[in-house]
Amino acid sequence: MSCLRLVLGDQLTRELSSLRGYEDGDVVLMVEVADETTYVRHHPQKIALILSAMRHFAEDLRERGLTVDYVRLDDARNTGSFSGELARAVKRHGASSVAVTEPGEWRVWEMMGDWESDLDLPVDILEDDRFFCSRSEFAGLVDKGKTGRMEYFYREMRKRTGLLMTDGGPEGGAWNFDKDNRKALPKDVSPPHRMRFRPDAITQEVLELVADRFSDHFGDLDGFGWAVSRKEALRALRHFIAEALPRFGDYQDAMKTGEDFLFHGLISPYLNIGLLTASEVCDKAIAAWENGDAPLNAVEGFVRQILGWREFVRGIYWTEMPGYAQSNHLNAKRDLPAMYWGAKTRMHCMSECIRSTRQHAYAHHIQRLMVTGNFALLAGVAPEQIERWYLEVYADAFEWVELPNVHGMAMHADGGRLGSKPYAASGAYIDRMSDYCGECSYSLKLKTGEDACPFNYLYWNFLIENEDKLGNNQRMSLIYGNLRRKSDEDRAEIVRSARVFLDG
Ligand SMILES: Cc1cc2nc3c(=O)[nH]c(=O)nc-3n(C[C@H](O)[C@H](O)[C@H](O)COP(=O)(O)OP(=O)(O)OC[C@H]3O[C@@H](n4cnc5c(N)ncnc54)[C@H](O)[C@@H]3O)c2cc1C
Ligand code: SF4
Repeated sequence: MSCLRLVLGDQLTRELSSLRGYEDGDVVLMVEVADETTYVRHHPQKIALILSAMRHFAEDLRERGLTVDYVRLDDARNTGSFSGELARAVKRHGASSVAVTEPGEWRVWEMMGDWESDLDLPVDILEDDRFFCSRSEFAGLVDKGKTGRMEYFYREMRKRTGLLMTDGGPEGGAWNFDKDNRKALPKDVSPPHRMRFRPDAITQEVLELVADRFSDHFGDLDGFGWAVSRKEALRALRHFIAEALPRFGDYQDAMKTGEDFLFHGLISPYLNIGLLTASEVCDKAIAAWENGDAPLNAVEGFVRQILGWREFVRGIYWTEMPGYAQSNHLNAKRDLPAMYWGAKTRMHCMSECIRSTRQHAYAHHIQRLMVTGNFALLAGVAPEQIERWYLEVYADAFEWVELPNVHGMAMHADGGRLGSKPYAASGAYIDRMSDYCGECSYSLKLKTGEDACPFNYLYWNFLIENEDKLGNNQRMSLIYGNLRRKSDEDRAEIVRSARVFLDG
């Protein structure tokens, strides 16, 4: 009686639930399928990363003595879908059952629901226990009213895991140290270099395949330097903890022309495909603090991103789907502007963030939220269009984490399920946190007109357009007070400038 153990491209973890209990005679099935590479037009580096990491993982399993059946993208009989490849493999191996770890995306979850009846054999869908909070635990916390805001959920998770806790309270006497964080980058502070990995023979072969098949997708493949094995991902993590973590908190929200990585971890793709686990990265960061190698504000800030935000958005995704993706609270309908695909723009901040995205399949959090996300929010871009963009262009983009971040955090399309108010900001915020405005051909000081910073009038125009939905939000009362003090002429000029810009 052999069990076919299907491992998906974002499940590259040795301790994966579907690999536990492997016995002689079982077969691990890994498949590269066209459906997954093309259901959106992923950045070529993202495709290369996943395919190369899958091939390395298959080798790793073989070296450990497991039997692996690996179907490549260019295999002549490849049907191009998970369901088709699973059916073929069941026949090939005469399997009597299938085991698989629950997927990260609703689309695949729905597909899995049909497998037992289609294949006419038992299909065991096992919990993905690489997260701190399971889907059912999160649902329990929803019932207890602990998931209304990320901060409540995060505190609950600190208590449950004991991470950064002492005598029942938070280490350092506070749950977060944001007051010490979020500084602009001073001129004399230089971020560490990015650790890059030279492509080996497996990666070279994948890069050729990707160049051949996906060169018309947005994004550069040249300069590919991602880690593609667990060993390399661990080196990248060590590099981050030693070189960047100590200042992670301080400069978490900073942006600088030409500095694409600053003090960020660049580990989200590795976490999301399973080369690193959430618990080990938190443990290593906390150990750095315990050893006196990183301050508490940095380590708590980092742990909050993983134990707090990452787990929270996953919980929201699984409790709110499939309806979550359908809401459009602010009724945003505009098409995504061509500058997101690299068309020339005078906006230096947008041009920098999109350049980094094209070049590395990466932009850091505040670029995603307060530049490209903020622009889409203020310009009223249709949520499904901007969501698709984020899903395509980032190496770490998987729907369970991408969708709540874009739909909820950046676009407020969920009406406040994820965040109590929209992350809307004028050019002043971008100027405070970056050096972008000094190099821009728009003027930050001008509030309206052809040469004014578009974020300035788009911000007020957004507030005007959405006054019926946001005007009574307690957390926005100050800003709506300011808007209400503006003269009719000023309001008219704001609306006119926004219209000219957006129609152009
Ligand atoms: C509009 C928008 C879209 C995003 N899309 C994605 C996405 O598709 N995939 C993705 O993994 N993250 C996404 N994020 C969250 C965050 O921007 C990235 O996780 C982060 O930039 C990854 O880079 P890093 O590893 O250098 O992160 P660091 O700044 O070093 O942070 C450390 C880790 O914390 C986690 N983290 C931080 N913030 C978040 C968050 N809001 N949600 C989930 N995890 C978080 C990540 O695992 C990250 O690796 C998005 C954020 C926004 C605002
Ligand atoms: S002036 Fe406005 S458009 Fe130009 S970089 Fe600053 S925020 Fe961006």
